[in-house]
Amino acid sequence: MTGWRKGAALFLVLLLLPALALGEASLHYQLTPLGENLLQVEMDFSGAEGGLLCYGEGKITVLSARDGTGAPLSWQARSGYVLLEGEEGTVTYQVSLGELGKHGSQGFAGERSFLCSGSQALLLPLCLWSVAEEDHSQVGEITLSGLTAGNLVLTHPTWCDMYSLRKDGLYLGELTPTRLGAFTVYSQQPEALRERLSRIEQGLEELFGFCPQVILVLLEDQANLFGGSGREVIASSFDPDRERDWELLTHRLFHAAFDTACPEYEVHMPGCLWLYEALAVYHEELWQENPRQAGEEMLARLWTRCRDCLDIRPETFRVNPMEEENLTLAQQEFLHYTYAPLLLYDACNGEQEQVKALLQAFMTAALEWDSMEQEEQVALSAWPGDALPLLEGGSMDLSGLPALGAEEEEQICREYRQEINTWLKKGGEQPLESTNNSSFSK
Ligand SMILES: [Zn+2]
Repeated sequence: MTGWRKGAALFLVLLLLPALALGEASLHYQLTPLGENLLQVEMDFSGAEGGLLCYGEGKITVLSARDGTGAPLSWQARSGYVLLEGEEGTVTYQVSLGELGKHGSQGFAGERSFLCSGSQALLLPLCLWSVAEEDHSQVGEITLSGLTAGNLVLTHPTWCDMYSLRKDGLYLGELTPTRLGAFTVYSQQPEALRERLSRIEQGLEELFGFCPQVILVLLEDQANLFGGSGREVIASSFDPDRERDWELLTHRLFHAAFDTACPEYEVHMPGCLWLYEALAVYHEELWQENPRQAGEEMLARLWTRCRDCLDIRPETFRVNPMEEENLTLAQQEFLHYTYAPLLLYDACNGEQEQVKALLQAFMTAALEWDSMEQEEQVALSAWPGDALPLLEGGSMDLSGLPALGAEEEEQICREYRQEINTWLKKGGEQPLESTNNSSFSK
């Protein structure tokens, strides 16, 4: 949440604090596509003693609100927050989809189909955005209708349930599901995915001891579309011949498996998140026939862009993972998807068994943190900080990674500078110069 949004929330909360004691509320969302990237949502709510303050990340426009008798209900909307001044009623709103975001267009809506993430479509009571589990007890049931897979019902949702619902893809369309191993797949050509999906499944089973039963909506007739990626539903455009699409799918499935095995909010928070993302990136090549070789080639590409960034702007990119919460957008992007996977590789000497042991330790720590003795917590939390060789000033030796050609290195750096520049610009920082043959020296 950005500062001004927090400010807007605080303003509304302070203004209306006496009216916000929720009982056990129930929420029902009916989703209907209208075409031209518009999704209409009717949200019925009841049991909201004194009113309901909601927040939505999507581009939401409230059309109307009625109380339980059908009479008009007072409401206020500001900066993504909507206050409904009644115990029960129905609010009708529209969501505008398709904005350009990190992984392409964020959702779409045709006349009879739509795809978007939960966080775009759903206006949720503020208590469900809180990391405190006791806040979630204010909501008893959430139901979603209008999806191809049928109604979705969540009873007494926890933080992890809500995190997943916000991230999950919500899909309505013509495709029929095909069961491919653990996965339920909506795709134009599901058979073309069978072999590789089976390899990913094997990899996840080996790593976690199970494979999560995820619904995959992989649309081959769309390009550059992101429709959500949570514990239950992963949805995007997908080209089976594009390697990057497979890597992203593997990354998202790694998160789905981990979040299923370890439903703890701490792993998604600064301090832990960099290690969690490092593990996900590290396992992007899990589906390959020779995952170790493919993984090392990927890490060699990350190492190239890491060196480039540290060369040209060390003051920005020499980041400390343990100070994750203070990093800028560009620094976070660099840490999560370039620097941290290399730290992980280096700390484990590139040995798969060591990475696996670390993954297990990370999961165990997250699951058992609250019941550990304080000394155990201190010992575990000291691990990453002590083991990170680069914190002292850049002594990471990854010379064991495969060598890349000069041309390939230049291309990697050129593309990465463009990518990181979008994050630098977003944070109001000076972009990096783009590379060309004469200025690039490696
Ligand atoms: Zn990730």
